[in-house]
Amino acid sequence: MLYYRHSSSREHDPSVLSPDHPDTPERIDAIENAMKQRDWLGCELVEAPAATEAELELVHAPTHVYRIRDLCLDGGGQIDPDTWVGEPSFRAALHAAGGACAMVRALVAGQASAGFCGLRPSGHHAGPERAMGFCLFDNIAIAAELAITELGLRRIFILDWDVHHGNGTADIFRRRADVLYASIHQAPLFPGTGHLSDVGFGEGLGYTINVPVPKGSGEELWLSVLEYVLIPVALEYRPELVLISAGFDAHHADPLGGCMLDSNTFAQMACQVRDMADSLQVPVGAVLEGGYAPVALAECVTATVAALGGEGTYRSIAPDPLITSRVAAYIGHHWVL
Ligand SMILES: [Zn+2]
Repeated sequence: MLYYRHSSSREHDPSVLSPDHPDTPERIDAIENAMKQRDWLGCELVEAPAATEAELELVHAPTHVYRIRDLCLDGGGQIDPDTWVGEPSFRAALHAAGGACAMVRALVAGQASAGFCGLRPSGHHAGPERAMGFCLFDNIAIAAELAITELGLRRIFILDWDVHHGNGTADIFRRRADVLYASIHQAPLFPGTGHLSDVGFGEGLGYTINVPVPKGSGEELWLSVLEYVLIPVALEYRPELVLISAGFDAHHADPLGGCMLDSNTFAQMACQVRDMADSLQVPVGAVLEGGYAPVALAECVTATVAALGGEGTYRSIAPDPLITSRVAAYIGHHWVL
């Protein structure tokens, strides 16, 4: 298994300009300390390269790239109520996107069956022309687009288990069938998108799956939605690559989310995705998104990396009585469930 890291991930620090900002470099320190304590779980450590301008522009407008670059070069500032950058942020963002691209190239080349990008800033709220919600460039969307245009893949499954809806990624692939985007997220919650009825448009109809879950949702619901809806759909779709927008802010200790998961839940979700990918004989790559309680985040990342690397088995559960069947009925218009 490959683990992508870079020192610049520690230099992007919104709390310099916005005290008490939850997206701190300590998130990376906590993750890397926990990974070191477990000998990086046997992963091969890889320095994340910087993304090229051409890679960023696979999904972003050049004007967006220049705006972020210039703001950072000028010393940084505020982009929206939640999103702040400093001088080092552009470099960090280049390596976060570049790591995702390098991971996808390595996985598709068969160098490993799984990878994890422990990089920041995160990406899934960033749209083609705007930064949003701590995100500057949409790392996972750039990597997915690269897999299609550069590597010739035809079907990619993106599972977004961050507690927030990945509106940036959803927007980028909304009208397309070559990327199946599926998100479980708390609602109502920032950014307010991701309704069950939003299933994509045009040629992409059916290739967006949104599963909003209420505040307080716990492991049984999240695992049930994955086992009885999202994994069966993914198996029917037969992706050539599986990517995870791996946010860990659905953990019960997280200050931004209101869900009740623990590190074992993430291990169980990762086991489900790993087994699905194994059965299709395709690789899995995870990209860090949110997770703002550093100790919990570190536990969740190590649990996820261990599971993607082959540790543990998924224990099937009974479907939850309400939400899973409602979602299945809705998604069943497009998929055989
Ligand atoms: Zn989040």
